[in-house]
Amino acid sequence: MPSNHRDDCFVVEGKLALPYQYFAGRTGSRFLIKLRDEKKIMGLRCGQCQKVYVPPRSTCERCLADISGQWVELADTGTVTGFTVVRYEEPYQPVPPPYILALIKLDGADTPLTHIVRGLPPEQMKTGLRVRAVFAGKTTSTIMDIDHFRPED
Ligand SMILES: [Zn+2]
Repeated sequence: MPSNHRDDCFVVEGKLALPYQYFAGRTGSRFLIKLRDEKKIMGLRCGQCQKVYVPPRSTCERCLADISGQWVELADTGTVTGFTVVRYEEPYQPVPPPYILALIKLDGADTPLTHIVRGLPPEQMKTGLRVRAVFAGKTTSTIMDIDHFRPED
């Protein structure tokens, strides 16, 4: 007799509360400290291919060169290269939905930074939009020291 029923499979309902810590690493720590203390967005530039990484990474993905000491300061302005509108709610989200989560290529950077865009309705959001960082009034020592980005005036 054909059947989709299986006696040896069942779903266990459960719930996890998961406080955690992680080490941001030398590169990530320097990025977050500069952001927190000086409101500066820093990236790393590869000396061989000149690619600028923001968020910074210590190794160039093209050249595999160690670029961990080659810091450059980025503008707080950039261009949206992609986005989505988050409409569902999860406990870990930084703000209540709906909100716009965008890929933002800062001026002078070659890689996009993911962050929230506010100041316009989702229907008006588009790639190519010019945005500027708005820094948080109170630090959390996280990427949320940039509170959000908003359309450039
Ligand atoms: Zn390179």
